[in-house]
Amino acid sequence: MIYLNGRIVPNNRALISVYDHGFLYGDGIYETLRAYGGKVFMLDEHLERLFSSASMIGLMISKKARDIKKAVYMTMAANRLKEAVIRITVSRGAGPIGLDPGLCKRPTFVVFANPFRMYPRSSYEKGVKIIISRTRRNYRKALDPRIKSLNFLNNILAMTEALDQGALEAVMPNYRGCLSEGTVSNIFFVKKGILHTPSPDTGILNGITRRIILDLAWGMKIPIHEGCYRPRDLSAAEEAFISNTTMEVMPVTAVGGRVIGKKAGPVTRRLHGAYRDKVAEYIREANR
Ligand code: PLP
Repeated sequence: MIYLNGRIVPNNRALISVYDHGFLYGDGIYETLRAYGGKVFMLDEHLERLFSSASMIGLMISKKARDIKKAVYMTMAANRLKEAVIRITVSRGAGPIGLDPGLCKRPTFVVFANPFRMYPRSSYEKGVKIIISRTRRNYRKALDPRIKSLNFLNNILAMTEALDQGALEAVMPNYRGCLSEGTVSNIFFVKKGILHTPSPDTGILNGITRRIILDLAWGMKIPIHEGCYRPRDLSAAEEAFISNTTMEVMPVTAVGGRVIGKKAGPVTRRLHGAYRDKVAEYIREANR
């Protein structure tokens, strides 16, 4: 069942116009969220980012955060889900051909809730392979990666490179050659006990998981450094991991052809443990 413009409808009746500017131009925004035990983790933060993406493209979401929360929980209930991946998509809506956003009178608002499928346990134990793509991350003064937009070709081109090389993710350098982020994740690495991650001004989506990890590291007195790093810095790391809402903290043990570990490193494991504790605490609070 899908929430479409105010109503829960069966998948096969969740239809939108071929004139939708989300379809024609990738003109729209989205959020991916995760529910644990029936509660949506960091829902306020995801909605804040949804509204911020909307405002960066001049899209007016007529719904209030409270109504969007209701829509999310209605969609989960309609699908009888407790462990779920939720996606909220808002496009500019249907309108005549042309780039003027004013051609679209009403945004299209969609919520999906699908069962959460756990990544293989072995990936968390042994780590995964990533690559550094040839594809550069969109220049932030052209299309700011802080906008979680439907326009995903930049990421798809980099992901295609990863898949061609048998990797799970591709980290994209920015226009200056500094590492920025993965196609659907943020990147971290550990060197000499210091946790490194590309700074927001490299042009990234400041992931909600990224922010939690930095908070946790701070609390655990793990030194943090945010900056501009080169591919060789990542390849020479002692540990690395990628983060996002669905994979949480995913250890990386190979970067392209280079092996950087045989299994998840100690800092990665500690941070993932702390992240899971944070989720558990959040869910306990939400259930009070
Ligand atoms: N960077 C990109 C390009 C993403 O698409 C995502 C998530 O999908 C992230 C980073 C991680 O963001 P979050 O931790 O909020 O899921």
